[in-house]
Amino acid sequence: MSFWPYFPVFVRLQDQPVLLVGGGEVALRKARLLVRAGARVRVVAPEVHAELAALQGVEVIGQGFEPAHLEGMRLCVAATDDMAVNRAVAAAAETAGVWVNVVDDPRHSRFITPAIIDRSPLLIAISSAGSAPVLARRLREQLETTLPATLGALARFMGEARARLKPKLGVDVRRRLWERFLDGRGPEAVHRGDLTAAGAVLDALVAEADSPTGEVYLVGAGPGDPDLLTFRALRLMQQCDVVLYDRLVAPAILDLVRRDAERIFVGKKKHQHTVPQDEINAELVRLASAGKRVLRLKGGDPFIFGRGGEEIERLADHGIPFQVVPGITAASGCAAYAGIPLTHRDYAQTCIFVTGHARADGALSLPWPTLARPGQTVVVYMGLSTLPMLCAAFIAHGLPDDWPCALVVEGTQPTQQVITGTLATLAAKVASAEVTGASLLIVGEVVYLRERLKWVKPAV
Ligand code: SAH
Repeated sequence: MSFWPYFPVFVRLQDQPVLLVGGGEVALRKARLLVRAGARVRVVAPEVHAELAALQGVEVIGQGFEPAHLEGMRLCVAATDDMAVNRAVAAAAETAGVWVNVVDDPRHSRFITPAIIDRSPLLIAISSAGSAPVLARRLREQLETTLPATLGALARFMGEARARLKPKLGVDVRRRLWERFLDGRGPEAVHRGDLTAAGAVLDALVAEADSPTGEVYLVGAGPGDPDLLTFRALRLMQQCDVVLYDRLVAPAILDLVRRDAERIFVGKKKHQHTVPQDEINAELVRLASAGKRVLRLKGGDPFIFGRGGEEIERLADHGIPFQVVPGITAASGCAAYAGIPLTHRDYAQTCIFVTGHARADGALSLPWPTLARPGQTVVVYMGLSTLPMLCAAFIAHGLPDDWPCALVVEGTQPTQQVITGTLATLAAKVASAEVTGASLLIVGEVVYLRERLKWVKPAV
């Protein structure tokens, strides 16, 4: 986790004494902001800009700075054009325990002021910790143009209603109600100034709020790179109350789930089903019946070797509403990031996905005559531990020894590894690489294209 050079806070300055050292243009700009927050600004400078002296809430002391001026102050801003004076102010403020900002000098500042997008009462503050103010400003410009000017009105509308709803509804019910409100026609009504219509939308939601119904989101999280999530997956991840996830879901993806959501690990590791499938199904039903929005987050796509079908069958039996969000399955993700097209007019007109998971007796039950054929690509999920058996079986059923294949390990993730070889050599190469991560086997002549096309920088 990266270190934060500054901690973001918003400070209530209403009627609080703030010392502003400096009387020029820069000080004037700072004074305007402080006055907007209701601060009582005391300006210390031998000469003071007339406009600054005239600001409401500003008191002028027409002399040079002295440490005694800091007494009783909440904050101090050093805004003179003399660097030495500014630093002397900073040092004195530090000694006095008063938080100080030196304009354009983050190194000598205890606090810095962000770039602001003002949709009062909504304020967005951006900081680059002083390292790239132009970038921060650019971001502000972008946000300025995309955020409606009436966002402030929406925040006000919600703020007023919040005070009314708070005594009536519990915190979870209120949060959900507001999310529904934001997803519905309410905001648009506020934006066009029709507060009566917005109020009616809200009233209807309040009437419904007393009988909450839970829901399950069965969401495919893709193979690991967070950039491969769908918008819908991300939206549901950010509005769930609880998340059930397995080992295949990358930590970078889990980080995007709403911070307050309860996290339940139902990890699945081969031979070690931490929570049996039946219990997962029952847990989904239990949580949703209690009115929660349950996110069932799965690696890849929920309907491809994901047992998503079983989970929703149980939900349907109990009449629990659910939605399924497809994800990029390991075959697509790994193939793309390894530079291996799964089909190609010259090499493979068919692509088959199979599981290499062995039966309890250790044997593989796969339709070998269908798989061991030229002109097609076979993608094997869960085939790492049975890899030697798989390669041998392809050969035994008629494919040549030197038929190309590849193993993609932890595909699309920063740790991705691609090991290429032939049916005769791959298993030994993989054994010597001591692979343990999630691995996908791709068998077929399309693997040649990885070398030939070089359209993705190989990870290995
Ligand atoms: N529903 C998932 C598959 C679950 S089965 C999907 O659609 O992708 C688990 C198997 O998927 C693993 O054993 C491995 O073969 C494969 N897999 C999942 N993520 C992978 C990744 N990032 N890299 C390589 N293989 C992966």
